[in-house]
Amino acid sequence: MTSVQSDVHEYQHFIGGEWTAGEGGTFEDVDPFTGDVVALVPRGTRADAERAIAAAAAAFPAWSQTVPAERQRIFLKAADVLESRLQEIVSLLARETGASFGFGMFQMGFVPNLLRQAAALAYAPAGQIIPSDHPGTLAMGLRKPVGVVAAIAPWNAALILSARSIAAPLVLGNTVVLKPSELSPVVGGLIWGEIFAEAGLPAGVLNIVTHAPGEAGPIGDELVENPAVRRLNFTGSTETGRRLAEACGRQLKRVVLELGGHNPLIVLADADLDYAVNASIFGAFLHQGQICMSSRRIFVERPIADEFTARFAEKAKTLKAGDPKEQDTIIGPLINESALSMVKGRVDEAVAKGAKVLAGGEAVGPCYQATVLTDVPQDSDFAHHETFGPVVSVETVDSAEEAVARANATSYGLSAGIFTGDTNRGFALALELDSGIAHVNDQSVGDEPQMPFGGVKDSGFGRFGGQAVIDEFTELRWITVQGGSGHPFPF
Ligand code: ADP
Repeated sequence: MTSVQSDVHEYQHFIGGEWTAGEGGTFEDVDPFTGDVVALVPRGTRADAERAIAAAAAAFPAWSQTVPAERQRIFLKAADVLESRLQEIVSLLARETGASFGFGMFQMGFVPNLLRQAAALAYAPAGQIIPSDHPGTLAMGLRKPVGVVAAIAPWNAALILSARSIAAPLVLGNTVVLKPSELSPVVGGLIWGEIFAEAGLPAGVLNIVTHAPGEAGPIGDELVENPAVRRLNFTGSTETGRRLAEACGRQLKRVVLELGGHNPLIVLADADLDYAVNASIFGAFLHQGQICMSSRRIFVERPIADEFTARFAEKAKTLKAGDPKEQDTIIGPLINESALSMVKGRVDEAVAKGAKVLAGGEAVGPCYQATVLTDVPQDSDFAHHETFGPVVSVETVDSAEEAVARANATSYGLSAGIFTGDTNRGFALALELDSGIAHVNDQSVGDEPQMPFGGVKDSGFGRFGGQAVIDEFTELRWITVQGGSGHPFPF
């Protein structure tokens, strides 16, 4: 049973600078811990997406010509507006997505920085002069904004992942239609309409369309098929990303995909044991393991395997599961019942096939305890598929080479960590890992806005962050200029 309090806010779509009701009514956006209604949110349709794209297309000519100082000013202001709402947004992250206080504060530290770094992109060089073999010819590679960019964002690190889906595209002169997850429509979506409107973003430059659970399809189809949308970026599951990439391929539309992970940690015999245990606990259990970079498998060299495993399991048992609004809670709720039953099912199947549970292994209300498995059989689903929850396996290996081979034996390739006292060796091993990201003496969860963030294999392609976004969200053109009548032609 959900309860709707009288002070629950009813949201509208943000289209063309206006808050507008859709034709589909609203749905209840619920708190995954209490089941209370957090907000009433528009149940968008394909027609709403079409209107949002039309508004974005209409706003593009003027926005793409806006001087960089103005774009920068808006982004710096948006960062200030966001920061001024710190407590409210940390609370909303807990209520809408089950984020602990620590994870909420982390997101609120990260995103203002992301917006301020994006502000600097307004002044990124727009091209280069390229020497031509034709005398008297000035040849250039010039970048221009692509037009309308569609951004499809997930719920898990809702504030960060929605911010990065819109920030670089907007500041580089594109207009955007954001489709947040149905599980974080406010803090991963509509809140950006409020913040950027207050920051002075012109009408139609950012548009936001929401939808009810199970109803993403028609909106996604419009974003892919409408010819005014020139690029897509997507963060979410490998399954949905693959479907979108196939559909974008048909439309010859470029897409950035940041998908799932099955991220390994490698703990070598010469690692600092205390540090490796603490780091691995953080990597495995931050946001109850619902991060694409969460550490999912830990390979430990035999000489320290027993001690590492015992200490790791002991520490996992101390992590408090419960209400994310209590500041000492580490393990908040899983995002919904189907996520909880998926995690339960994966653990139960691995155990039925021979895995041992060293810590956790039980649901506590809407939460799942921090769970440590060992001896996970290769034919279990856990061994091959991303299990988005607080579950990690620890396995013993006989050498670093075996660890790397086992770490690479998965279809995913997002992030990885290696713990060793020999940083040169750690660096050499990092180069051997099939992942977009690898850290020596750190766990697998981390991001900075200026870094090239993304994966290989089933973890996707394209990069968010750093200078990579300039290529992702601008069109590079070849322009030449010759004086007078140019050069002679053979016929
Ligand atoms: P997760 O497991 O993280 O919820 P999803 O891939 O289901 O992963 O969701 C990520 C984003 O993809 C969400 O915004 C969701 O609404 C969206 N999504 C799901 N199905 C589709 C679809 N058919 N077309 C477009 N977006 C979709």
